[in-house]
Amino acid sequence: MAIGLDIRKNDEVRVIAGRDRGKTGRVLEVEPRKRRLYVEHVNMIKRHTRPNPAKQIRGGILEKEGPIHISNVALVCGDCGPTRIQHRQTAAGKKVRVCAKCGKVLDK
Ligand SMILES: [Zn+2]
Repeated sequence: MAIGLDIRKNDEVRVIAGRDRGKTGRVLEVEPRKRRLYVEHVNMIKRHTRPNPAKQIRGGILEKEGPIHISNVALVCGDCGPTRIQHRQTAAGKKVRVCAKCGKVLDK
Protein backbone atom coordinates (compact mmCIF):
# COMPACT_ATOMS: atom_id res chain seq x y z
CA MET A 1 0.00 0.00 0.00
CA ALA A 2 1.68 3.18 -1.17
CA ILE A 3 -0.75 5.64 0.34
CA GLY A 4 1.12 6.02 3.62
CA LEU A 5 4.21 7.42 2.08
CA ASP A 6 2.16 10.09 0.38
CA ILE A 7 2.12 12.01 3.61
CA ARG A 8 4.99 14.40 3.96
CA LYS A 9 6.43 16.77 6.46
CA ASN A 10 4.37 19.98 6.87
CA ASP A 11 1.25 18.41 5.37
CA GLU A 12 -2.00 19.09 7.15
CA VAL A 13 -3.59 15.82 8.21
CA ARG A 14 -6.69 14.64 10.03
CA VAL A 15 -6.41 11.83 12.54
CA ILE A 16 -8.96 9.20 11.52
CA ALA A 17 -8.37 6.52 14.14
CA GLY A 18 -7.19 6.16 17.69
CA ARG A 19 -7.30 8.28 20.78
CA ASP A 20 -6.96 11.61 18.97
CA ARG A 21 -9.43 10.83 16.21
CA GLY A 22 -10.86 14.01 14.67
CA LYS A 23 -7.88 16.21 15.43
CA THR A 24 -6.18 18.08 12.63
CA GLY A 25 -2.57 19.12 12.66
CA ARG A 26 0.62 19.70 10.79
CA VAL A 27 3.03 16.83 10.21
CA LEU A 28 6.23 17.49 12.13
CA GLU A 29 8.22 14.46 11.10
CA VAL A 30 7.76 11.31 9.01
CA GLU A 31 9.51 8.02 9.60
CA PRO A 32 8.83 6.20 6.32
CA ARG A 33 10.60 2.99 7.23
CA LYS A 34 8.59 2.61 10.40
CA ARG A 35 5.50 3.91 8.63
CA ARG A 36 4.73 6.37 11.35
CA LEU A 37 4.72 10.08 11.84
CA TYR A 38 4.44 12.86 14.35
CA VAL A 39 1.59 15.36 14.16
CA GLU A 40 1.51 18.64 16.02
CA HIS A 41 -0.43 18.32 19.32
CA VAL A 42 -1.48 14.74 18.53
CA ASN A 43 -0.78 11.74 20.75
CA MET A 44 0.88 13.86 23.40
CA ILE A 45 2.92 11.79 25.77
CA LYS A 46 4.36 12.81 29.09
CA ARG A 47 8.01 12.32 29.67
CA HIS A 48 9.52 12.64 33.07
CA THR A 49 12.79 14.46 32.97
CA ARG A 50 15.42 14.57 35.63
CA PRO A 51 16.96 17.90 36.51
CA ASN A 52 20.33 18.50 34.91
CA PRO A 53 21.68 21.87 36.02
CA ALA A 54 24.70 21.59 33.75
CA LYS A 55 22.40 21.66 30.73
CA GLN A 56 19.92 24.07 32.32
CA ILE A 57 17.24 21.41 32.33
CA ARG A 58 14.69 21.57 35.08
CA GLY A 59 13.16 18.34 36.26
CA GLY A 60 9.52 17.64 35.74
CA ILE A 61 7.06 16.48 33.19
CA LEU A 62 7.59 17.36 29.58
CA GLU A 63 4.80 16.91 27.06
CA LYS A 64 5.83 15.80 23.63
CA GLU A 65 4.24 14.41 20.49
CA GLY A 66 4.32 10.63 20.24
CA PRO A 67 4.41 8.66 16.98
CA ILE A 68 1.21 7.55 15.30
CA HIS A 69 0.85 5.04 12.52
CA ILE A 70 0.63 6.52 9.07
CA SER A 71 -2.59 4.62 8.33
CA ASN A 72 -4.32 6.55 11.12
CA VAL A 73 -4.21 9.87 9.28
CA ALA A 74 -5.67 11.29 6.09
CA LEU A 75 -4.34 14.22 4.12
CA VAL A 76 -6.60 17.27 4.32
CA CYS A 77 -7.78 18.93 1.14
CA GLY A 78 -8.48 22.64 1.58
CA ASP A 79 -11.80 22.25 -0.20
CA CYS A 80 -13.22 18.93 0.96
CA GLY A 81 -11.38 18.02 4.14
CA PRO A 82 -9.76 14.63 4.77
CA THR A 83 -9.37 12.78 1.52
CA ARG A 84 -7.59 10.03 -0.32
CA ILE A 85 -4.71 10.91 -2.56
CA GLN A 86 -4.31 10.26 -6.24
CA HIS A 87 -1.28 10.88 -8.39
CA ARG A 88 -1.18 12.82 -11.59
CA GLN A 89 1.52 13.95 -13.91
CA THR A 90 1.56 17.58 -14.93
CA ALA A 91 2.21 18.82 -18.46
CA ALA A 92 5.74 19.54 -17.29
CA GLY A 93 6.17 15.88 -16.35
CA LYS A 94 6.13 16.49 -12.63
CA LYS A 95 4.28 14.06 -10.41
CA VAL A 96 1.83 15.73 -8.08
CA ARG A 97 -0.63 14.58 -5.47
CA VAL A 98 -4.24 15.43 -6.11
CA CYS A 99 -7.41 15.13 -4.03
CA ALA A 100 -9.35 12.00 -5.01
CA LYS A 101 -12.63 13.84 -4.48
CA CYS A 102 -12.22 17.21 -6.23
CA GLY A 103 -8.99 16.83 -8.19
CA LYS A 104 -7.30 19.75 -6.53
CA VAL A 105 -3.51 19.62 -6.57
CA LEU A 106 -2.31 19.16 -3.01
CA ASP A 107 1.38 19.84 -3.55
CA LYS A 108 2.65 23.34 -3.07
ZN1 LIG B 1 -10.65 18.09 -2.51
